Amino acid sequence: MRVAIVGAGIGGLALAHGLVKAGVDVTVYERDPSPRHRNQGYRIHISPVGEEALAALLPDAVRRRVIETATHPGDLLAGFDSQLKPMFEQVFPGGGPDRVTAVDRYAFRRALMTGLDDVLVFGKQFESYVVDGDEVGIRFADGTSATADVLVGADGVGSRVRAQVVPDFEVADIGVRCIYGKVPLSPAVKSLVPQAFLRGFSFVSNGRGAGAAFAPVLFRTPPEEYGDYLMSVLTGTNAVLGCADDELSAMSPADLWSIVARVTASWHPTVRELVASAEVDAAFPITLRTCRRVATWPVSRVTLLGDAIHPMTPAAGAGANTALWDAVRLTRALTEETPVLEALTSYQRDVTPHGQAAVTESLENAQRLFSVTI
Ligand SMILES: Cc1cc2nc3c(=O)[nH]c(=O)nc-3n(C[C@H](O)[C@H](O)[C@H](O)COP(=O)(O)OP(=O)(O)OC[C@H]3O[C@@H](n4cnc5c(N)ncnc54)[C@H](O)[C@@H]3O)c2cc1C
Repeated sequence: MRVAIVGAGIGGLALAHGLVKAGVDVTVYERDPSPRHRNQGYRIHISPVGEEALAALLPDAVRRRVIETATHPGDLLAGFDSQLKPMFEQVFPGGGPDRVTAVDRYAFRRALMTGLDDVLVFGKQFESYVVDGDEVGIRFADGTSATADVLVGADGVGSRVRAQVVPDFEVADIGVRCIYGKVPLSPAVKSLVPQAFLRGFSFVSNGRGAGAAFAPVLFRTPPEEYGDYLMSVLTGTNAVLGCADDELSAMSPADLWSIVARVTASWHPTVRELVASAEVDAAFPITLRTCRRVATWPVSRVTLLGDAIHPMTPAAGAGANTALWDAVRLTRALTEETPVLEALTSYQRDVTPHGQAAVTESLENAQRLFSVTI
């Protein structure tokens, strides 16, 4: 069987490993021109579901690379008010030396690309497909084409494959904007940062709609491009940030970061010092989007995976973990001795309720965390 995967994101790469391990002929088509493109990393929490999926899908050498490039495991979820008065704290059991609880997205994807040189094709932006009998024809933006027995759309929240499979699928803007940034963990910053911020995920809220999340990325082995950092993200509506969307999207990283400094100007001095220590050029804006109902679609030789089926806010730390779970299910379905359409029927039956549970949890968390009604 020849499987074409559109998108070398977290789900697409994990699926590729699972299928290659089972001897399936796989090609992954990625629109980015190279693996180093867009090296902006952000921290991704890996849950036991994600860890289990990685163990099931990855060959040993790739799994070791993921473990080596992950962060040292964290054990804390904590909340503070804007003067850093503790509001809540939850401690999680620690793990063994190979435990993976968080990764940097760039380092993680690079690790997941290990051993896939013959499978990955960069600079291929998917445009459309045509199902013709037992074959799927695929067209790319550069005018080239390919064929496969099964096409998997693993092309993320704005999936073009999904746009053709489920044209009326709705992805809603929840009204929350994030300004994402990095504070490099220099010795000086490490000495001022509250210990809780180095132990896991901390959320600081002013109780009036502005929040800031902090979480450490303390690499076991850092990528070549950068070292340890404290992920630092401001969240709020346009009104809270004092800025409309068209202004946000046109701003330089330095101007974006000046919004963070302005909104946190009356917060605890340590927060202000952290904000002042950020790598300003790393700032970028994010719009939080979600579906309410995960995608369902008629079974054919074209299927979907990850954010393409169930885009969700990061508020449950579940999008990547759910994509990895999907990849395990799809690998299993496509490598069983079952006719392909039956296999895809059972895959689609599995991923709908599982994805819906994660979307619902992320929606509920987002409403609580960001004080919005969705
Ligand atoms: C700030 C932030 C924090 C997050 N934190 C967490 C977390 O802690 N835990 C968690 O589980 N999840 C988290 N998520 C969500 C997580 O990043 C996504 O759910 C996950 O990356 C989805 O994986 P995917 O493979 O479906 O899509 P993606 O990883 O988005 O990959 C899609 C790939 O498809 C490519 N592509 C897109 N269109 C085309 C095209 N037309 N042709 C070819 N290629 C294309 C893209 O370039 C990309 O490489 C976070 C997200 C954000 C934004």
